Amino acid sequence: MPTSVVTGGAGFLGSHLCEALLARGHRVICVDNLETGSLSNIEHLRGSQFVFRPHDMTVHVQIDEPVDFVYHLASPASPIDYLRLPLQTLKVGSYGTHNALGLAKVKRARFLLASTSEVYGDPQVHPQPETYWGHVNPIGPRGVYDEAKRYAEALTMAYHRQQGVDTAIVRIFNTYGPLMRPHDGRAIPTFMRQALEQKPLTVFGSGLQTRSFCYVDDLVRGLILLAESGEHLPVNIGNPTEMSLLELAETVIRVTGSTSQIVFEALPVDDPQVRQPDITRARQLLGWEPQVGLEEGLQKTLASLGRESARA
Ligand code: NAD
Repeated sequence: MPTSVVTGGAGFLGSHLCEALLARGHRVICVDNLETGSLSNIEHLRGSQFVFRPHDMTVHVQIDEPVDFVYHLASPASPIDYLRLPLQTLKVGSYGTHNALGLAKVKRARFLLASTSEVYGDPQVHPQPETYWGHVNPIGPRGVYDEAKRYAEALTMAYHRQQGVDTAIVRIFNTYGPLMRPHDGRAIPTFMRQALEQKPLTVFGSGLQTRSFCYVDDLVRGLILLAESGEHLPVNIGNPTEMSLLELAETVIRVTGSTSQIVFEALPVDDPQVRQPDITRARQLLGWEPQVGLEEGLQKTLASLGRESARA
């Protein structure tokens, strides 16, 4: 039975990944300091094959048993979190990634870095292929996240080239689904919360800026396929169906059956104008395609909100 370490395993994506790995017959060691994650995300996973290790990844991690895969997801991820935790974000991207790579090296495990489409910044190439180097403001408020991830990618490639660690890098585009925190500041949970409370949906700027939203099950399938492949260079995983934030708000109102209106607020600093993954590499290398469309994914997310509030 393979053993997977998932750093950040008590977060939104990490908890879904832990669940999928357990279903695949892995033993899972979830390492998390609960900075932005929560025990309620992993309560349903408790069992003989699941271990929770409370630990801050910026500090050396000791694991005594053999490990086959290290999935490194630990990092604040929503703008609200990384703007509140700028130093923690830079430290987990640097020291945390260094420690996770060190663990993979000692265990001779396959390592997967959860990087982000934010490495492309406010892109001047559209859609974004992995060969695009990006357009990031290093000293703007968002730079703490974007540059932490760019550094983490450089560190991962250095461990691969100099130390022979078997590494992979996934650039994750906006992902949504059950277990997102209603107040985490990202567009879909914010719009859903506002729609369900019959409050106005707050769209930033003109709302014409675009994003591409991937349902969490599709994303997690892509992470596992990449970890189990032999690929070392970055691979985009995201849904290429692009839409404006205004269209997203209208879709959320329709799916939730809400009577809410849409209001406009100031655009955050350095907010990207467009965002769409080029997934040619994921298709060719992994045979990966997203399967869940936005309306279906929003329905599933909506259905889960009832289950989560019943559990809470
Ligand atoms: P999340 O905030 O829900 O989860 C992150 C987890 O990491 C949390 O459980 C948090 O407690 C943990 N963590 C943070 N700092 C830590 C530290 N120093 N030591 C140990 N644990 C720590 O965010 P998420 O959306 O699940 O994102 C997971 C990963 O995927 C992140 O690396 C993020 O950058 C990346 N990502 C996510 C998205 C997305 O749309 N959700 C998009 C691009 C990239």
